[in-house]
Amino acid sequence: MEIRYVNSNHTTEDKYCDCGVYGRNSPVEEVSGIVTLPTGDPRGCGPDPVYNRNFSYLPWIALVKRGNCTFSEKINAAQRQGATGVVVYNVDGSGNSTTQMSHPDADDVVAIMIGNSQGMEIAKLVTNGTQVMMRIAVGSPHGPWMDTYWLYFLSIAFFIVTAASIAYFVFISANRIYSLSMHRRNERKLKSEAKKAIGRLQVRKLKTGDEETTSESHVCAVCIDSYKAGEVVTVLTCDHIFHKACIEPWLLERRTCPMCKCDILKALGVEEETKENLSAESPPDVTVITVTGGEPLYEVPLTDPASPHTERPQHLYDNRAFQGDSEAGRR
Ligand SMILES: [Zn+2]
Ligand SMILES: [Zn+2]
Repeated sequence: MEIRYVNSNHTTEDKYCDCGVYGRNSPVEEVSGIVTLPTGDPRGCGPDPVYNRNFSYLPWIALVKRGNCTFSEKINAAQRQGATGVVVYNVDGSGNSTTQMSHPDADDVVAIMIGNSQGMEIAKLVTNGTQVMMRIAVGSPHGPWMDTYWLYFLSIAFFIVTAASIAYFVFISANRIYSLSMHRRNERKLKSEAKKAIGRLQVRKLKTGDEETTSESHVCAVCIDSYKAGEVVTVLTCDHIFHKACIEPWLLERRTCPMCKCDILKALGVEEETKENLSAESPPDVTVITVTGGEPLYEVPLTDPASPHTERPQHLYDNRAFQGDSEAGRR
């Protein structure tokens, strides 16, 4: 809304505000004219004639106060006398607040609502004899409809994005937890089978004069140390020998000979079927690092890099438990 008038100092005042709200049934278009007040009651409810337009050849805009009758009645009363637009200002004490008017019986004239303080200010000027020109133009879209619409739209969008993110996160987490638990279960099963298999391996105590203690070519492939009399060695199914203390932790983790990759579970026939089922259920992701000569040296589980560390204490415990078992077995 824009108003223009000549003040008491003979200078032109031009005021603009983004403060009016088009009525629900009003055409949303630009109008302008001279602000005109009702001759009697400022609420402009009739009966006719409510306005006294001497210069009706100029377009004029009615300025009325809210109350006493419906918006439709006020608007119709002004339109009957040729108003190009109707401005309703809010009731006393409501400051600059506005609402969107509903006027279903008066829908072919531009009607807006402005705040009480703005309306009172203009009405005072007109009452004092100042000629006020007003222009009503379409500004930025606002008001209850836009507010509600945008709030609704943003809430729905926010809800959809949040729900999708949560669902994705839950799916990923559940998947990861499931595969981790499958991997751990598999590892535990294989470890207990390895323990069983180790119990069946041949164990020897080296004596002075044994071939292993005399020849420099015989070294334990795990610790790269030669054998000495009195040391306890384990003979694998492939006839490779290692220190008992060196090979047992290795076998618990890998279940294969470090030299020839011979699978001790297969060689000893320890619960072969169970192992095959487990492998089919969750194929272990391993990478094999080979040295020149093609001997596989080391296997690293790819799926859970943290597990070798976290399971280390348990591994020691298993080993000790096993040692107790095997000693009991030998006695
Ligand atoms: Zn060794
Ligand atoms: Zn071997």
